[in-house]
Parts: sequence; C-alpha cells; structure tokens
Amino acid sequence: MPIDPRRLLGLAFASADLLVELHGDHVRLALGAAQKVMGESEMSLMGRRWRDLFHADDQPLVDAMLACADDGVRRGPVVLRLARAEPSHVRVILRALPDNAGRISCAVTAAQATSAHMEPGGLPPRESFDDIAKGLFEAARVTGLELELAMVEFAGLGAMREGLTPEEAAALDARVAGAIRSESHGGAAATRLSSDRFALLRSRDDGSEKMVKRLTRMVSAEASAHVVPLEAGGGSARALRALRYALDDFLREGLKDMPPMTLSEAMNRSVKRTLARAGALGVAVSQRRFSLAFQPVVALATGLAHHHEVLVRFEDGGSPFALIRMAEEFDLIEELDHAIIEQTVKKLANDQDRKLRLAANVSGRTIVSETFVDHVDRLLSKYDEAKGRLIFEVTETAAIDDLPRANQNIQNLRSLGSLVCLDDFGAGSSSFAYLQQLRLDIVKIDGRYVRELADNGRDGAMVRRLVELCRDLKIRTVAEMVETTEVEEIVRLAGVDFAQGWLYGKPSDKPMPALRPSAPVKAAARRAGAAESWG
Ligand code: C2E
Ligand code: CA
Ligand code: CA
Repeated sequence: MPIDPRRLLGLAFASADLLVELHGDHVRLALGAAQKVMGESEMSLMGRRWRDLFHADDQPLVDAMLACADDGVRRGPVVLRLARAEPSHVRVILRALPDNAGRISCAVTAAQATSAHMEPGGLPPRESFDDIAKGLFEAARVTGLELELAMVEFAGLGAMREGLTPEEAAALDARVAGAIRSESHGGAAATRLSSDRFALLRSRDDGSEKMVKRLTRMVSAEASAHVVPLEAGGGSARALRALRYALDDFLREGLKDMPPMTLSEAMNRSVKRTLARAGALGVAVSQRRFSLAFQPVVALATGLAHHHEVLVRFEDGGSPFALIRMAEEFDLIEELDHAIIEQTVKKLANDQDRKLRLAANVSGRTIVSETFVDHVDRLLSKYDEAKGRLIFEVTETAAIDDLPRANQNIQNLRSLGSLVCLDDFGAGSSSFAYLQQLRLDIVKIDGRYVRELADNGRDGAMVRRLVELCRDLKIRTVAEMVETTEVEEIVRLAGVDFAQGWLYGKPSDKPMPALRPSAPVKAAARRAGAAESWG
C-alpha cells in the first residue's frame, strides 16, 4: 500500500519538534520548529556544520555520535547544549538512513539541561556520577528502563599520550570523553575512574560487543568492557550503594594489583567479592557469627579501668572496619548493632560482682533509628542488672543525617541510665556540629590527634583546646590510641580524663584489668586517692 509521505512526516513530528538531515557532517535539510528549538530559522541551518551548532564542551560528543552512525543503530537520545550565549539544550536522536549514501537523520526536541556538571576533561566527576545514577535508578524504577553498568578500559591510551603535545593530549582526552558519553544513557551518565578506566550507565537493550567496537573505532585504541546488569527493583538506594561500592572496590583493588589484570577479570572479581562478602556478612549478622573483644578504658587519675570498650570480631579475627562500613552501605548495620548490644547486655548481666562497665559502639546510622531505643529499653528491662553499666559510643564511620532525632535518642538512652560518648571526635568535618547539637557525657578524641602527639613531637595544643571546650560543656574526654608513656603524659597534662590504647591493653576476648600502670600513673593514683567514680 502506498503511504502518503505527509503521514510519515506527521508521525516523525509526533516525537520531535525538528527534523534535520545531515550529509556527512553538514545540514542538508531542516524541517520544523527550528527557530523555537535551535534559535535559528530552517533556512539559516542549511549547509551549516552540525557540530558548530553546539557548545564546545559537547562537540566531542557530537563527533563521536556521527563517527559511528553508519552501523545503522539508533544513537541517543543525548542532551546537548547549543552554541548560544544563554544556556539552552536540545535532546537529539540520530540514525543513518538505510540507503548507504551517508545520510543521517536527526530528531531534535527542546530539553532541560542535565544537572550534570562536567570536568574539564568533559565527563561528570565521580560525585555527580553518583547523583546521575540516583536519578537514573529512580527513572528506571518508574519506567521499567533496564540499565547496566559498563566498566570500560582502553589499552595503550597511556602510551598514546606520551608522544603528544599537551594540546594534542587534551584533544585526545576530549575525544575519549565524547566517545564514552555517547555510549551512556542521555549522554551524561559516565565518569572517568582513572586515566584509562571509565564507568558508564547504559540501557541494556544494545549489545555490549557493539559498544566495544564503536569505542575502539572512535578512540583508535583497543577498548575492553565488562558489563553488570543493575537491578533497580530491589530499591534504588540499595542499587546505588551496591554500584558505589563496586566502583570503589574496583578502583582500589584494581590499581593495587601488580601486574594489572584485565578489566573484566578485575571487575568480575570485585563484583563477585562484593556480593560474596555482603552475602556472608548478612549470614554472619543473622546467625550471630561474630564474637566480642574488650579493651580497657583507663581513668588517668587512678590508672584503673573505668570501663571496657566492646569491639566486634568476625571469623577472620582482624579489624572489622571494612565490614562495618559494608554493613552500613548494605543496610545491615542496625541489625548488627542490635545483636552486639544484646550480647553486651547479657555479658553485663552475667557479671557476678556487678563492677564491669561496657561501652558498645553504635553506628551513626543506627542512632537515628526509630526502633533503636525501644530495643535497648526492652533489653534493659529484661536484664535489669545491666542498667547503669551500659555505655554507648556513637561512631562516625557513617554520618549522622538527622541530628535532632539523634539527640532525642541519645537523651532517651541517658534517661535509661546510660552514659553516651561521641566517638572519633575531630575525624570528620561535622564533629563541631555534633557537639553543638547533641547533649553528651563523654567525647572521645580521635586517635589521629593522639598519635600525632608522638609522631611530630607536638605539644598537645590541639588536644588541650578540645579538652577546654568539653570542660565548658561539662563533657568528659577520652584519648584513644595511647601507645606510649610519653603520649600518656601529654594527654594527662592536657587535662584528658580517660585514656585507651595498647599501653593499657589490646582488645582481648575477656575484659582484662588495665596493664600495670607505669610509675607516674601510680604516683598520680596515690595523689588522687580513691578510684574514680561516676556517681
Ligand atoms: P573505634 O571505635 O575508634 O575503635 C578503636 C579502634 O582502634 C579499634 O580497632 C581498636 O582495636 C584500635 N586500637 C585500640 N587501641 C589502639 C592503639 O593503641 N593503637 C592502634 N593503632 N589502634 C588501637 P578495630 O577493633 O579494628 O575497630 C575499628 C572500628 O570499627 C572502630 O573504631 C569502630 O568504628 C568500628 N567498630 C568496631 N567494633 C564495632 C561494633 O561493635 N559496632 C560498630 N558499629 N562499629 C564497630
Ligand atoms: Ca569506638
Ligand atoms: Ca575512635
């Protein structure tokens, strides 16, 4: 049946405001709302170079799309900034016409700017990539769009750069950035991980081998890629955290390996390892497969243990730091904190002479939880012998995102008879905001300040100021990571109340008394008389 060409045009305009046909890289024909969309008449677009119509930052992306248009695959949509003074954007889809005559048809619509901010190299920096990914996961959830993460590596890019002048190297980087962007969803969902490694999000319906071929052609360097399908169904926040974790892990572990593995080996390993670890961690948490270690926290006035900090140990027995971070990323931390506190309370309840005091760590994510205080309340009602001897250390491995709620929970814990300590003070940028907005009993000065005292022969001015500040607020202080008597002396002179560290004992599987106090400590203890009490 012959079709009236006007009906085809009608169909085309149903999805675009402007149709442009290119021959090579020049505009051959423009039909539609050119003035409204591009700010120029149809006539004035004729014969122009297509790339010249766009902002310099986006020209490499335009080049990349044209360079591979001939494989007959639809490219885009991508959002491009026009070469006009005031920022305005269009969304472009292009496809070579199937007649092999080098004609390319573009569908153009007016568009909002993407929120992505670009680095000089022409790609969004890592942090905005996270934001873009967040937006895309959200969109994917709503529209059913299926996404995958592609990790891309170019072989020999470093060697290529070596023989180039700075201008030529910048042009190469722009070409690579354009190529990577042109393969990403919307033209901005991509980032540079290192000089020859990139990550991008793309729709799953176009085979990745084709992408690799195009990238190799556009950049003239051998590309390889590994793609991981992303399930947005399980909640986009979770998908995003998995993505962030996999990228970090890939970057970290991938660069550490000597000799370097291929990208797909690294990626395979990293994703497998991440998932395996997260899975194992989930099992360890739900089956309570962890143990507790105890480290004394000493009152400097007496040299005696005032309480012990509880530190979790998983099956490998080493530092739990990486797993704690992972538990925070994968929403397992609250269950873990609950489980550890439950065992801590039982330990206190089993203590015959009722002298033991234990400080459990609580993640910044758990302290804002709605159920946390109830959980503690129920435990302390059941094991009421433990009341008054359970201390909480709010850690800063994860930031506290709701200070008023955290403070509410902290006050509720205090009304249950617990002291509350802010851990890692000075480690993060928010420490002073925390101090201002949280009513606390104790502040633990981050170990880095304490250890620095020994390293650089510092006089402890920083620690002294922190102690003065806390005194004004009627908050007691702990110095952690005290490893030598010299450091102990400095923190004592600075007025710190408590100290913790290898000098008094490493974490061990039972709460041990503090190691024999050194001579000055004994003297001080004699001067101070009786053992410290918290009243
Ligand atoms: P943190 O709460 O600041 O714990 C102090 C860390 O310093 C512990 O490492 C401890 O073993 C180590 N340490 C103690 N004294 C010294 C010393 O004199 N020198 C040196 N170099 N290190 C010392 P660990 O056990 O590996 O814990 C690391 C972090 O993991 C903890 O930092 C805390 O943020 C987190 N964490 C540990 N256990 C738990 C837990 O049960 N729950 C939660 N939420 N986080 C925990
Ligand atoms: Ca701690
Ligand atoms: Ca700490």
